[in-house]
Amino acid sequence: MMSMLNDVENITPTLKMIARNKLIQEQFYERSDLYELLLKAASRYITGETMQGALNTAKELFSAGYKFSIEFMGEDTTTEKECELIKNEFFTLIEHSAKISTSESICFDLSNIGLYINQSLAIDNLIDIANFAKKYNYYLMISMEESAKTQAILDVYLEAAKTCNNVGITLQAQLFRSLNDVEKLLEVPGKIRLVKGVYDESNDISFRRSHELNQRYLQLIDIITRNKHPLTIATHDPVIIDEVVERGYLDTDNTEIEMLHGVTPQKLKSIKDQGYATRVYLTYGTKWFLHFCHRLAEYPPNIYQAITDCLHPNKIKETYYF
Ligand code: FAD
Repeated sequence: MMSMLNDVENITPTLKMIARNKLIQEQFYERSDLYELLLKAASRYITGETMQGALNTAKELFSAGYKFSIEFMGEDTTTEKECELIKNEFFTLIEHSAKISTSESICFDLSNIGLYINQSLAIDNLIDIANFAKKYNYYLMISMEESAKTQAILDVYLEAAKTCNNVGITLQAQLFRSLNDVEKLLEVPGKIRLVKGVYDESNDISFRRSHELNQRYLQLIDIITRNKHPLTIATHDPVIIDEVVERGYLDTDNTEIEMLHGVTPQKLKSIKDQGYATRVYLTYGTKWFLHFCHRLAEYPPNIYQAITDCLHPNKIKETYYF
């Protein structure tokens, strides 16, 4: 472990591995003092533990000219009863969020609404939420999870897409298979949200963070935009974003840039100020540990920022979007 930590290339995967460890997660959630302390730093990235926090932030961002997506955080829900409660949470979220703007997105992991139990439950719940969302002109964006679930997630999405036209899917550029998967996704109208991929996958199925991965990311953008398919470019990588602007990929009205709340907000503001469509991904809930750790892992200098945020939580807003 020590030699891995000495190797800069391995810092991100190592931090992610520690964060995903179930024992570490359990111990974290048992320690209320630690939870309260780190919540101060996590509040840079999550909008709060309750829906109201997300709605307040959404309102501010919408007034400033950003679109938004909202996620009630959770994954791997193990009982049907819990899935039902989560589904109801999304209904309430859509109802309230639609009072701010009538054409935004709700995001979730399919494993949060039934995929962890069985595929047909996930399809039924997805279709129920999509039909409810449609009444408010709302869009659902399915997140992409670990590669072991990729095929099941695509199958559920493609099944729901037969009857729902307000559902889109996230595609991970880091997986080699995505170059084939994108062809199937282009056959249905749903929006594609392109990410690099947050999970640490093995070298035989995925790219590491590298020039090669950036080339694949740009190649996928190229394929999707050439087909005039709706696309969300979801990255904070300044190299990719500058290239995207340079190549004119944002010059159409069905392509946008989306970033996670609290990550490089000044960059998103500068894109918005150039007149391009921008969206902020908001998360809320009490299951924020993994989301927070991933933000530190993917850019380790954020660890210093997190320590400062614990000491001065009131200053966090100063760096925001306005
Ligand atoms: P990286 O390649 O990780 O980093 C490149 C550069 O970007 C860094 O050097 C730095 O300059 C900047 N940067 C990146 N992250 C940070 C940060 N936290 N703080 C400061 N600077 C940073 N992943 C999934 O697997 N499934 C999903 O469903 C999913 N949904 C997402 C939705 C949205 C809207 C976004 C923005 C991301 C989502 N992700 C998802 C996460 C994504 O896969 C990446 O893990 C994450 O965005 C980091 O990759 P990157 O492309 O931003 O940049």
